[in-house]
Amino acid sequence: AASGEVIEVELQNGVVIIEGNNGVFMEPVRVLNSGYDMHDVKFERYYSRAFFTSVSMPSSGVTNEGSDTRKRKRKRVYNLNEKEVLAENRHQEVRSVILKAHEAFQATVAPSLRNYITFDGRDDCVPSPSKSCSSMQNLGIEEGEVNFVELAALWQAPLYEFSFSKGQVDCEEEESRTTPMFNTIIKSSSRTSEVAECGACKYLLPKSCTFLISDISEVHRLIPVGDSKDGFNLMVIDPPWENKSVHRKSLYPTLPNKYLLSLPVKQLAHADGALVALWITNREKLRHFAETELFPAWGVKMAAVWYWLKVTVEGTMVSPLDLAHHKPYECLLLGYLPSKIGSTSEESVQFTGSREHADLPDKFVLISIPGDHSRKPPLKSLLSKHIPGQRHAERGLELFARELSAGWTSWGNEPLRFQHLNYFRER
Ligand code: SAM
Repeated sequence: AASGEVIEVELQNGVVIIEGNNGVFMEPVRVLNSGYDMHDVKFERYYSRAFFTSVSMPSSGVTNEGSDTRKRKRKRVYNLNEKEVLAENRHQEVRSVILKAHEAFQATVAPSLRNYITFDGRDDCVPSPSKSCSSMQNLGIEEGEVNFVELAALWQAPLYEFSFSKGQVDCEEEESRTTPMFNTIIKSSSRTSEVAECGACKYLLPKSCTFLISDISEVHRLIPVGDSKDGFNLMVIDPPWENKSVHRKSLYPTLPNKYLLSLPVKQLAHADGALVALWITNREKLRHFAETELFPAWGVKMAAVWYWLKVTVEGTMVSPLDLAHHKPYECLLLGYLPSKIGSTSEESVQFTGSREHADLPDKFVLISIPGDHSRKPPLKSLLSKHIPGQRHAERGLELFARELSAGWTSWGNEPLRFQHLNYFRER
């Protein structure tokens, strides 16, 4: 068992290995902070749901025993349909793995959590309106922040620009240090984090990051020209799956599955292959689509499934583990794109990486406290050791990103969503 001291040190770095090694606890704020040198992510902004919503959480994550037992007894007996039976079987297969990881986490890490995630109440959670941002206020997600999706739809969109304070960004206009906001690959090769301005709206860019704000129709701009050694060997994809709750809350636009089939994942990959991580929701239909259509269409071979278990600040699961339609976990499907080396045509590409892939754990549990709706924990530090090839430097790409990551390329229609300066405090 990890000693208290080891846990303390690991917590400071943001990742604690869970006893038995079938999982980790991650504190995303500390992990993200390593990408910045002068700023920290504000706990109260990252964990706004955990701190500012008064959801009463069940004390046990396992069942709903107790007060609502009578209510449940009165419910009609409900026969599961075929898809629900499959989903339930999958759940039964992993529930003991998840429980074991959660129990180890509760015994070791959970008691210290409150000391590591502190909100002192001084800072305002809602960003203050910014005067110069006022021309964009009617477009804002919140005052002072820009809704990139709505902005991109305006006829003025091609006129919007970012300007940069330091001279490290590849800009079209060398003199003025400005670059168009949309449909342009923006690369900051600065070894320190820096600020991009759009009017008076300021966005913090982590060290050496690249991003493209565009619709899916422009994602091909990221395909390496010529040498696919410039391609990506680690890709994290979190698609805007069609989903009633996202739609009802108008959280972001969603995409029908057929658009995802055409994502140029294979063309984006590095010559030596790539590890691909795909977030999916708990719908059986999606899991089936991802495994039988999407991965094959992308040329990805399934390798493992990881589970992201969401917990509260107290360490309990966010909902009972066995609740039929609201599981406290989400799945991450992991697969490998084969190396292109030695092949003469795309069709003759062979899957050659089994030696390197042997150490990718299956049924691995990642435990964390969730941030904003749909915001996923950063996977870079967990996945980079599993990229294929001859111990290549990591070339990471996040598709459908809402934040930037140091050293990575991020693409989506709002990859600066969580980069607004309001999300950070000076160190
Ligand atoms: N992984 C992200 C995070 O942790 O915050 C969440 C991604 S969210 C599930 C999907 C993202 O895809 C949203 O930002 C949404 O606006 C974006 N999206 C939807 N339709 C798109 C399109 N046609 N082109 C590009 N991005 C799109």
